[in-house]
Amino acid sequence: MIFRLIIFAIIGIVIYRLIGGKIPFLDRREDVINDDDFTKIAPTSECAECGTYMTEDDAIIYHKKSYCSNECLEKAQKRIR
Ligand SMILES: [Zn+2]
Repeated sequence: MIFRLIIFAIIGIVIYRLIGGKIPFLDRREDVINDDDFTKIAPTSECAECGTYMTEDDAIIYHKKSYCSNECLEKAQKRIR
């Protein structure tokens, strides 16, 4: 009888977690990781043409300079020529 109750309790917890429920003691570590994501700052660089700041993921690197968009890159290329 007690064995059945334990199985029902485990099934209940599994369903609860599948729905999206959180158990404070077990999920504390995940919450800490999420906090780290919020405090991380993406490295930024300045557009060599218009001075806009963007993340390095968005930047277009050309001749060791970063540009915010293809437009700025083309403007810079025209100026060089
Ligand atoms: Zn730009």
